[in-house]
Amino acid sequence: MGEERDETLDVDEAVRAERERIALQIADLTEELGAIVESAAATVPDDEHDAEGSTVGFERARVSALLDGAVRHLAELDAVVARSTPGERRRCEECGRPIADERVAALPATRLCADCAMRRASRA
Ligand SMILES: [Zn+2]
Repeated sequence: MGEERDETLDVDEAVRAERERIALQIADLTEELGAIVESAAATVPDDEHDAEGSTVGFERARVSALLDGAVRHLAELDAVVARSTPGERRRCEECGRPIADERVAALPATRLCADCAMRRASRA
């Protein structure tokens, strides 16, 4: 650390940091999901525990949705990284123009330039 970095390196760094962040999130959520499943298995379901049972089910659904999202996000990020050439500006999938480095650093999984993303968002 401490040495000068050019913009290309900053982007790579941001992508790497994002991958690490998501990987950690996946590890945490996997652990959390395991704990929920374990505690649910330890609970003998009967009428009195119905309320608790549905809370566990809700928690499990919530955590596994988060986990699915994180796994998908990581896959998207990897796919985008695989398609881009190292050291070269990433290009927008819609208009083919280079995406600004600041945008890629802020949104490492992005495939669109700011203009196309905005257009797409307003269309949706
Ligand atoms: Zn574009």
